[in-house]
Amino acid sequence: MGHFRNMLLAGTGSGPGAKSRLFWGKIRRFYLGHFRPGYVESKISLRRGECLRCGTCCALLYACPELEDLPDGNTRCRIHEKRPKNCSIFPVDQADLKDRDLVSRNNGERPCGFDFDKSG
Ligand code: SF4
Repeated sequence: MGHFRNMLLAGTGSGPGAKSRLFWGKIRRFYLGHFRPGYVESKISLRRGECLRCGTCCALLYACPELEDLPDGNTRCRIHEKRPKNCSIFPVDQADLKDRDLVSRNNGERPCGFDFDKSG
């Protein structure tokens, strides 16, 4: 269990390719969000910036059906107030941002509005 737990914390899923990594990322966030609230809290305390509503994190592996594209190029979550924990805690850490950048929504020209304090 220790090895599995360490892989979850490090965000290093096994298997080749972006899909494998994105799938692993979903499992990882579920685990962290439900079983490691202290870890999530400490990582999120290092988070800077704000959501820019690009919607990219709503399209990891598949596009969420609750995601709505707006005419101004932003997006809106139809269930924002009741969204799953996997969504509400994103990004937990740098590993999540790496997952996010694998998805080429907006042609990769629009980075996530969040970043992490590297000193922590
Ligand atoms: S990728 Fe970042 S900026 Fe874009 S919707 Fe998700 S949290 Fe917001």
